[in-house]
Amino acid sequence: MAIQILPARLANQIAAGEVVERPASVVKELIENSLDAGATRIDIDIEKGGAKLIRIRDNGSGIGKDELALALSRHATSKVSTLEDLERIMSLGFRGEALASISSVARLTLTAKTPEQSEAWQAMAEGRDMEVKVMPASHPKGATIEVRDLFFNTPARRKFMRTEKTEFGHIDEVIRRIGLSRFDVDIMLRHNGKQVRQYRAGNLPSQQDKRVAAVCGPAFIQSALKIDCEHHGFRLWGWLAPPSAARAQNDVQYTYVNGRMMRDKLLNHAIRQAYGEQLPPDTHGAFVLYFELDATEVDVNVHPAKHEVRFHQSRLVHDFIYQVLAQALEQAPTAPAEPSVV
Ligand code: ADP
Ligand code: MG
Repeated sequence: MAIQILPARLANQIAAGEVVERPASVVKELIENSLDAGATRIDIDIEKGGAKLIRIRDNGSGIGKDELALALSRHATSKVSTLEDLERIMSLGFRGEALASISSVARLTLTAKTPEQSEAWQAMAEGRDMEVKVMPASHPKGATIEVRDLFFNTPARRKFMRTEKTEFGHIDEVIRRIGLSRFDVDIMLRHNGKQVRQYRAGNLPSQQDKRVAAVCGPAFIQSALKIDCEHHGFRLWGWLAPPSAARAQNDVQYTYVNGRMMRDKLLNHAIRQAYGEQLPPDTHGAFVLYFELDATEVDVNVHPAKHEVRFHQSRLVHDFIYQVLAQALEQAPTAPAEPSVV
């Protein structure tokens, strides 16, 4: 075959393979966009585990009529324009790929209104050759993105989708992770018309505790050590279960770097090392930890799904996290805590 440039739709579908693994990855990308747009309230509606419908509605900055079609094209982003921007990313998104990828493998509708516009506009893309129709619509300030019939035109991908229950479980986990990343945002999740989660916004310690309890269970927050340590531009804060409150499963392990949820080897290694030999056999540590550092000290452009990072001073980061946690654990009571009387 002769060398040829791929048609736009095919190029997007190939990129979608990296970004859009399953309904939960669509949910993650869309919510990240809402957060980047400054939303303080995000409503998520799911039907049939996301295979039939994923609808995310936010009250963020919206998208102007003239930019609707652009938002759906590949490498179109309002978040970076120079290499310097890329080297100090503050937003969750920056690849300009999510909407293009999603719209190449689903029927996507984007409805939005900016504060400057008097009416809302809607754009539709149906996995076609990126031909986008724009028409008037009704919507308050913000944006709603509707994704129907995910993978309708990519049967191979569709085959990989699991049962409705399994796919919804993955979506729910994304919501929990994001719920823990932004205490200041109202988040509501519905499945097949039924409300499944509602997290209310609030940054007071008691409100944070309440949300952590809602996500991780009341037992976790009751026993957890509160962590907060700052040193040389690094800050680590959050909650760490003492060994006496170790869990049978590794289901409460949440780490964030500059507000971005992570599955990072270096962080996990430092945490495991801090627990050392203290965890009873066949048990797992439990933690919700936020690591913050200057954006120029970390490279987020490592993985298409953005859940790995590279630290410029990885040794220092590792040792800092290890030391803070090891010290906290040293001071922890060794016997199971008495249930506190409220
Ligand atoms: P990225 O997030 O990497 O910039 P996306 O494909 O996810 O790329 O989104 C493309 C652009 O569309 C964003 O840069 C942003 O300007 C706009 N956008 C997407 N979703 C929203 C939203 N919910 N509210 C406002 N603008 C949005
Ligand atoms: Mg994005």
